[in-house]
Amino acid sequence: MERSGLLVILSSPSGAGKSTLARRLMDWDPSLRFSVSATTRAPRPGEVEGDHYYFRDPEQFRIMVRDGQMLEHAEVFGNFYGTPRAPVEEAMLAGRDTLFDVDWQGGQQIRASVLGTHVVSIFVLPPSLAELERRLIARQQDRPEVIAARMQKSRDEISHWAEYDYVIVNEDIEASTEALKTILTAERLRRGRQVGLGPFVQALMREENA
Ligand code: GDP
Ligand code: ADP
Repeated sequence: MERSGLLVILSSPSGAGKSTLARRLMDWDPSLRFSVSATTRAPRPGEVEGDHYYFRDPEQFRIMVRDGQMLEHAEVFGNFYGTPRAPVEEAMLAGRDTLFDVDWQGGQQIRASVLGTHVVSIFVLPPSLAELERRLIARQQDRPEVIAARMQKSRDEISHWAEYDYVIVNEDIEASTEALKTILTAERLRRGRQVGLGPFVQALMREENA
């Protein structure tokens, strides 16, 4: 059945597990397209240009915004982050779903855009702030002062939880992954999203009885 594309937004305080969940969701459904953001932050060890992010300097980023290339953009932890518009529009036209890892500011802007009716938004909470800090340390990607800054910002991000359609408390990664798959499966089945449903049902009604 033909379907309109979904914009699946994942947000959480840094370290709650949204990148891990995004990866697991895409392993489950390779047709999902990850929206690769542009950022002015420095690459972490192992991060690949065009795969995790498009790493740009502030001037290049400013030009992308000026030229209307960004669907949304925001400053997070002192760096700029933004979603390139063209790949999202292409996916929508092709009826493909896109997965976004953006903060609450990105969530608000995508919801407010012309594509807003296609948004499904999910907020990921950590089981506790102590566990959040443990995960940031265990990830071994950020210096202690960067981790401290992210912990300080975590309450800000969490304060936006009620703007989201769904909330997952990411305690057990397997259970959270299952929850995410369930949300996507249900949202794809919504009547209004199955484009060819009307003609299909009409044809069904015209069939001769067996
Ligand atoms: P991590 O979330 O701890 O792995 O750190 P990152 O530096 O990768 O991301 C920091 C924050 O920026 C997270 O809250 C991301 O969701 C958010 N972010 C990433 N890309 C974008 C984007 O394109 N737009 C917006 N608004 N936020 C983004
Ligand atoms: P985010 O993208 O939200 O910043 P990550 O996906 O990078 O978070 O996860 C942060 C760290 O926590 C990673 O080392 C990841 O393996 C780990 N992690 C994610 N989910 C869980 C979980 N449910 N239980 C324990 N550790 C987790």
